[in-house]
Amino acid sequence: MRKNTQTEHIKTFLRVRPLNDAEVSRASRIIVDCPSNSREVVINERPNDKITRKFTFDKVFGPNSKQIDVYKSVAAPLIKEVLDGYNCTIFAYGQTGAGKTYTMEGRRCNNPTVSWTSDLHAGIIPRAVGHLFDELRLLRAEYSVKASFLEIYNEEIFDLLSPVDDTNKLRLYDDAVKKGAVIVSGLDEIAVRKKEDVYAVLDRGSRKRQTAATLMNAASSRSHTVFSITVRIRENAIDDNELLRTGKLNLVDLAGSENIGRSGAIEKRAREAGNINQSLLTLGRVITALVEKTPHVPYRESKLTRLLQESLGGRTKTCIIATISPSQCNMEETLSTLDYAHRAKNI
Ligand code: ADP
Ligand code: MG
Repeated sequence: MRKNTQTEHIKTFLRVRPLNDAEVSRASRIIVDCPSNSREVVINERPNDKITRKFTFDKVFGPNSKQIDVYKSVAAPLIKEVLDGYNCTIFAYGQTGAGKTYTMEGRRCNNPTVSWTSDLHAGIIPRAVGHLFDELRLLRAEYSVKASFLEIYNEEIFDLLSPVDDTNKLRLYDDAVKKGAVIVSGLDEIAVRKKEDVYAVLDRGSRKRQTAATLMNAASSRSHTVFSITVRIRENAIDDNELLRTGKLNLVDLAGSENIGRSGAIEKRAREAGNINQSLLTLGRVITALVEKTPHVPYRESKLTRLLQESLGGRTKTCIIATISPSQCNMEETLSTLDYAHRAKNI
């Protein structure tokens, strides 16, 4: 079969979290079966009738998978691309509580004086920053690393790194110089000098996110966050010309997928309640268009896809990590998530 070059640039992964306390106390049955080190997952949809459904991914991470395993398989290969001056994006998709934030950021400790527990639970964002610095130090070059952190709620963009009481909406506009690039006006970029700096940035963003959600009476499960790391490298070429290259890694913690139905459309109930998540819907369409190579990719139909336009498609690499619960009580949402992620995979 002829290889589709586009799909080589979109990879889909699945992560199954362990049962949580509520599921354990409800004695909810485990319906997700994932043999270790496999690319397949089997859902026992009706265990009594032995009715199952099987899905294939680039890799499946079971309930016992470690943060480091996920990092090594999903994110580590993108670091080289970023250092070479390309843009890459990782999305975490799934219903609220399925493990998106655990996967992207990691687990914080409840004790306010110690914001982060241990490196064991560090997610993709801090690991990526640490890895970048390790690689950058090996280069004989000047470099800078900057981070930005924004939230998209109800198709409005907010800077998570601006002062806590600032709820200004940011605007997007097309870059006049660089075709296809989009600028977020007024978005703060913070210099990061070592891995540990990233925890302060994450904490600041998460505080702001909570305050803003309270101020706006908003449910944070309905917002998307985009953490972007921009690396600029200046190298002296042999003939004394300076080489400047810029790479970017976008780490996206998507809104809870609970209102997206099995067909990939917004469910009627959610539509009536006005809970239409334009960015989540459009992302699905953009990915389908890229996979199917349709000439028109509807980037401009949502804030999220417009923001990431330059980082989706073309020479860029994109990963989707679908996150699910192993429990029967979440089966409908789990199947929706698997269907959504599966459409991104052209096999
Ligand atoms: P989401 O961001 O998708 O709403 P979270 O990442 O906040 O979900 O996860 C919900 C809870 O489950 C959190 O307490 C988190 O620490 C825990 N959790 C999620 N995934 C895992 C995992 N793979 N291993 C251990 N705990 C996890
Ligand atoms: Mg979350």
